Amino acid sequence: MMKQLLILSGKGGTGKTTVAGAMTHLFRAMACADCDVDAPNLHLIFGNAGKEQRKDYYGLPKAHIDEAICTMCGLCSEMCRFDAIKVGYTTRVDSHACEGCGLCEAICPQDAIEMRPVVAGDLRLYTDLEKGVFSTAQLRIGNGTSGLLVTEVKKQMIGAAEGAELAIIDGPPGIGCPVIASISGVDMVLIVAEPSISGLSDMERILDTARGLKAFSAVCVNKADLNPRLTDNIVTRCREREVPYLGEIPYDPEVVRVVNRGLTLAYSECPAGVAVREIFERVAELLYEGVVE
Ligand code: SF4
Ligand code: SF4
Repeated sequence: MMKQLLILSGKGGTGKTTVAGAMTHLFRAMACADCDVDAPNLHLIFGNAGKEQRKDYYGLPKAHIDEAICTMCGLCSEMCRFDAIKVGYTTRVDSHACEGCGLCEAICPQDAIEMRPVVAGDLRLYTDLEKGVFSTAQLRIGNGTSGLLVTEVKKQMIGAAEGAELAIIDGPPGIGCPVIASISGVDMVLIVAEPSISGLSDMERILDTARGLKAFSAVCVNKADLNPRLTDNIVTRCREREVPYLGEIPYDPEVVRVVNRGLTLAYSECPAGVAVREIFERVAELLYEGVVE
């Protein structure tokens, strides 16, 4: 059965995607997913990822009003608690504000409202004999259903990656609904923390969320030498919480140059590349043996 390793961080810019890209190469994972559906960028590391299939993603249905039937009584506008319907010269739905609850459809005395599916983004699947399967998606601006889309990205990857032993998943930033969707069903969460007050707090919240979902977590710190005191605090908190601490990646200007050339840290001899390979060894021990030396 395919194991799933999810890489998470509290916010964007912590190096999560760089670590996810390196892990994919080092593990030679034949399944990979980018679940950061608001701003996917793992494909930049993959370059030409093989044959592409695209399909529309339909999020929650939205209210649609038939103006020919509507008598502009205003009831739907009064009842909508998301303030998504305006009655003026016509009755209009703000599709960005509509949450698809269906109340207006149920109460309209004229049956003038219908819930219609709306394209909220697109799902992309890349298949390549040598690289394996890469699943990703892009949510359209103003569509708030990223948790559902994250679930679809994972389902698409699992469906296409028959026989793959390991999947690497680049998770969404933050701790909201998309993160919960990305954690569901994974074997291990690797948190890439940054040594800052907010980085420490984000790490704690991800650990709490993962624990609530019974997912096993471990932590590494990126740019650790930028604030050794806070890196120490993260190590201490991991010890107190009995969460494996897998090491630290130093701040290294070479990382930007490697990433900008479309390369991966997996094979780089720069200090950050060396550190990522050490962390990879410990992740592998945890993932396959359940212990770390
Ligand atoms: S409740 Fe129906 S008839 Fe009344 S304003 Fe809304 S859409 Fe029009
Ligand atoms: S479906 Fe719900 S949220 Fe959307 S317009 Fe109707 S009442 Fe408002």
